[in-house]
Amino acid sequence: MIRTTIAGSLPKPAWLAEPEKLWAPWRLVGADLVEGKQDAARVWIKIQEDAGIDIVSDGEQFRKHFVHGFLEHIDGIDWQRMTTMGIRDDRYDAQVPTVTAAVQRRKSVHGDDVKFCRENTRHGLKVTLPGPMTICDTIADAHYGSRPEMAMAFARLLNAEALELQALGVDVIQFDEPAFNAFMDQVPVWGVDALHLAIEGLTCKTAVHICYGYGIKANNDWKDSLGDEWRQYEEFFPALNDSRIDQVSLECADSKVPLSVLRLLADKEVLVGAINVASEVIETPEKVAATLRAAMEFVDPERIIACTNCGMAPLPRHVAEAKLQALGAGTALLNRELAGR
Ligand code: ZN
Repeated sequence: MIRTTIAGSLPKPAWLAEPEKLWAPWRLVGADLVEGKQDAARVWIKIQEDAGIDIVSDGEQFRKHFVHGFLEHIDGIDWQRMTTMGIRDDRYDAQVPTVTAAVQRRKSVHGDDVKFCRENTRHGLKVTLPGPMTICDTIADAHYGSRPEMAMAFARLLNAEALELQALGVDVIQFDEPAFNAFMDQVPVWGVDALHLAIEGLTCKTAVHICYGYGIKANNDWKDSLGDEWRQYEEFFPALNDSRIDQVSLECADSKVPLSVLRLLADKEVLVGAINVASEVIETPEKVAATLRAAMEFVDPERIIACTNCGMAPLPRHVAEAKLQALGAGTALLNRELAGR
């Protein structure tokens, strides 16, 4: 049986934040905002359950952005000192805050959110946190002077957070590391070490998500420049396969990633992206099943979890909903086929 999950974010309802936009400002404040985020999470949990998603998530309804949503609660960061920085190896510019002192976490960042989700679903629950390397690529440094050193400092905070979330009954904790695809050579040098520090002591499933980014123009243009075969994963999958991370989430739908790279993850569970998040075209269940079937040439179905390529935050809400339904239906179609053979 192939199970299903999602990579991360889902669109915010229009009453909560401006739709189809990354870093969209909230439209509510104070207690209304707290209630609004919870209502949005509740709606998406229900939609995921109805769509046949086994391991659901909050779809990042509680945070403005997958990196800064965590960083907002960390001391040592100056949000008045915003720097325009070329991120993901200069793929696009982002306004980022600056680390000016040793980073510290005063209290749980996502504890209340996760507690709410745990109380609102009996399905498996996944939580996503930004990975240490991606954090370091989404913030300016005026304190540490070295990315690996700063990554280890953030990894310690992530670990404390992850241990608290695990205690609340989370089944999977995923670290999002799109930066792995931009700094491939650094992954074996310090990227995996930082992840290991972040997962220390965890007994729930741990995952790392590495994609070719949201379906925004800068990413789509970058993809166009990568040629006919995207072999970035090849460079660091061996290091990930040797790591203590349980699951690797990657992009396979409508992607130029040669699926033979999956051979390099022989000891991992593989979250096969079977939904293209860079297109508003809704996949048919047959197409989802075909993507998963192609992955099965290199991975046993027992190790495959059907997933989306990346988060769906920038998509229209109804498109994301239909794509979730396609993911569930396509996986169910393949599972019926597998049961009959
Ligand atoms: Zn992604």
